[in-house]
Amino acid sequence: MPRHETHAEAGLAAERGARWDGLLVNARLATLDGAEGYGDGIAGAPGTGLSPAGALGWRDGRIAFAGPAAALPARPDELAIEVIDAGGDLVTPGLVDCHTHLVFAGDRAAEFEQRLGGASYEEIARAGGGIVSTVRATRNASEDELLAQSLPRARALLADGVTTLEVKSGYGLDFASERRMLRVARRLGDALGIDVRTTFLGAHALPPESAGDAEGYIDAVCGWLPRLHAEGLVDAVDAFCERIGFSDDQTRRVFEAARALGLPVKLHADQLSDGGGAALVAAFGGLSADHVEHTSPAGVRAMAAAGTVAVLLPGAFHVLRETTLPPIDAFRAHGVPMAVATDCNPGTSPLLSLRQAMQLACTHFRLTPAEALRGATVHAARALGLDDRGRLRAGLRADFVRWRVREPAALCYWLGGDLVHSVFAGGRRMA
Ligand SMILES: [Zn+2]
Repeated sequence: MPRHETHAEAGLAAERGARWDGLLVNARLATLDGAEGYGDGIAGAPGTGLSPAGALGWRDGRIAFAGPAAALPARPDELAIEVIDAGGDLVTPGLVDCHTHLVFAGDRAAEFEQRLGGASYEEIARAGGGIVSTVRATRNASEDELLAQSLPRARALLADGVTTLEVKSGYGLDFASERRMLRVARRLGDALGIDVRTTFLGAHALPPESAGDAEGYIDAVCGWLPRLHAEGLVDAVDAFCERIGFSDDQTRRVFEAARALGLPVKLHADQLSDGGGAALVAAFGGLSADHVEHTSPAGVRAMAAAGTVAVLLPGAFHVLRETTLPPIDAFRAHGVPMAVATDCNPGTSPLLSLRQAMQLACTHFRLTPAEALRGATVHAARALGLDDRGRLRAGLRADFVRWRVREPAALCYWLGGDLVHSVFAGGRRMA
């Protein structure tokens, strides 16, 4: 119910049985619904604490009211079927994990141990390890096996506050296996009651059978895309543009295939070197450039001009013990929105908490806690092309989290632990 309805109108609506499904009162609301910081008037200035007098109402899966309880149009019990006293707890939008590879089979824990024991990447690859081992295991897994192995990872993210999840393909690298990965991603959303957005990443790595023929493989990828799209399995298209991945020209061909279908693009860009990837995806009006540790000033300017989001992935930075930071100050100076994601994957970022990624973004990249929370909500939604979530505002999806803490900075402060009280997605309690 919009804020401008009068008390009398709200009462009338209540008589008609049109009460809200639920209403949280005594909540500290971080709405994120302002240009910066944690939100607008009810949020207060960063560091000064939020007012405990916030209220959040929802109906039919949408937020009906988000604001000071004093502005509610009627008594809580007149307005909503269920009134929940949040006891001063922090309430934020549901978190949005905008970059994961969490559908895969097997894991690489043994490889992690070998590397710590001194084995090089090359030795591991020669012994059949590395991404090839994940591709092999994923190809050999049935759809149900892949779902069974991936579900606990998605469930862990949900349990720590994620209500929208992006999942990429890219460990199948043949048509049937890429299709199976995307189908499993969709089934994860159905199983958990959260929204899963799928990204086709056929151009992730060159499969062993295509060694020496990257051009031919890219031809195949461009041919699979319309078929997968026709099955409703593709929300966006991604590629790995890097010296050890695919070239600018090959990436451009994949993007042109996406554009022909009206699909948005994003890119693994400038992770290990400045290959001009950020500028390339910006030239296609891309949703996001991801990793971006080595993005040049020209790349930052191109992203700013195109409205392309910088997706920061501090989990991979941490695991790989990288030392080159993304150009955070330049992103700030040019107003490039910064998102934060887990990059959950078996090789470089086996990370199962987006809140932990926010913590790493603060410690490694020196994001403020407000920037990290914006990065995991409103800016992450934008990196997926979604403007109906990531903030607490009437009319948006009723995706929100009640935390067992009172201050937003606490989300970035604790390493691990169980801070979630409850998670609502589309107005329904999911965790
Ligand atoms: Zn990735």
